[in-house]
Amino acid sequence: MTMVRDRKTIPPIHSRFMKVKCPDCQSEQVTFNRATVKVHCQACGATLLEPTGGVANIKDAKSEVLE
Ligand SMILES: [Zn+2]
Repeated sequence: MTMVRDRKTIPPIHSRFMKVKCPDCQSEQVTFNRATVKVHCQACGATLLEPTGGVANIKDAKSEVLE
């Protein structure tokens, strides 16, 4: 069985939306899980996500992936 180099067998990781709940004020907002900029709570300004070069780092915020 020969691997074809041009054909990717592993699907690329797509950005997904996810819901992040602010630990401070419980405000929920929807964002990408591959944020390239810091994501702040729209209500109180707390940092919810920080870019790490790839998948966003979820700090204290609770989150759930939205398919
Ligand atoms: Zn907040």
